[in-house]
Amino acid sequence: MRPSGKCRRYDLLALLVAANELRRELAGNIVTYVVNRNINFTNICFVGCKFCAFSRGPREHDTYFLDPRQVADKAAEAWELGATEVCIQGGLPRGLDPFYYRDILRAVKNAVPAMHIHAFSPMEIVYGVELTGMPLRDYLMMLRDNGLGTLPGTAAEILDDDVRYVLSRNKLSPEQWKEVIRTAHTCGSRTTSTLMYGHVETPEHWVNQLLLLREIQSETGGFTEFVPLGFVHQNTLLFQQGLSRPGPTLAEHLKIHALARVMLAGSINNIQVSWVKLNRKLSQLCLQAGANDYGGTLMEENISREAGATAGQYTSPEEFHSLIREIGRIPAERNTTYSRIQIKMPFECFPAEPLLEPEFA
Ligand code: SF4
Repeated sequence: MRPSGKCRRYDLLALLVAANELRRELAGNIVTYVVNRNINFTNICFVGCKFCAFSRGPREHDTYFLDPRQVADKAAEAWELGATEVCIQGGLPRGLDPFYYRDILRAVKNAVPAMHIHAFSPMEIVYGVELTGMPLRDYLMMLRDNGLGTLPGTAAEILDDDVRYVLSRNKLSPEQWKEVIRTAHTCGSRTTSTLMYGHVETPEHWVNQLLLLREIQSETGGFTEFVPLGFVHQNTLLFQQGLSRPGPTLAEHLKIHALARVMLAGSINNIQVSWVKLNRKLSQLCLQAGANDYGGTLMEENISREAGATAGQYTSPEEFHSLIREIGRIPAERNTTYSRIQIKMPFECFPAEPLLEPEFA
């Protein structure tokens, strides 16, 4: 028997309440954020993902490419503005210098030795391996030895062959994604984990991906966080060709954050909202549906903006503080791996813990 609409509404409500309660138990009332800068070093890319409005062919009029020195200059600027992390990813141009990714790390570390470098998606790692001819493990260790701190677990979208065939036939396979992630973790480099929702996938894909992430985490312990990424559809071929739905519904946004909290409880305890995709208000709602991290200040953001997102490119720490305090929680700045957390609120302003009713009064 199919559940009635009313029953489904109650199910959603129960899921949200359970997720929020689990968040309170596992992450407390603190909402963290990281002061970082996004650096997308080029928009030239041959991969051709249909959900991406950021990439350009090499002969288009508005292409750009930053050399390692220019990336380092941006990192130095970010350091001056208080950033502790740079997040570096970009398109994949043909004929890239085989050691370009390594040279970016060297240049950034040379300019700002204490900056944490969070860089290179599994797709970029596979490309770097192809360009250099090095074994995957050796390649990852070379990057680590040249300053790579952590890797984004992006390029995952939905780790299912059929979905990937529609989204991006040239992208790395689910097996390659898992191999890069597992190898990075066993080399001592931690990663984030992601899932893109609201396009052609079904809830079954969400559940399968969360189960997979939980399985990898139980083997390696290498994931720092999980970030659901809502599909921004407006300017993408995937939507314009009628192949996808127009991004996630409000219920889907809430459900994926809550489901992730429930399914990853005790495994990956940091669930991040992507404010750039959700916008700030919806992010606040998702923080009440299981999430505990606001992500990064970003300083510059290109990928979601090109696809049609309107949340802007930068959220200042002060803005994070007031957004977090508006929902009665405690703002705290963290580092990339959540190993250092600094509360950003005077003690007397802490929200009072709700008094528990005595059970056997
Ligand atoms: S998502 Fe990344 S790999 Fe795919 S087309 Fe865009 S820039 Fe290229």
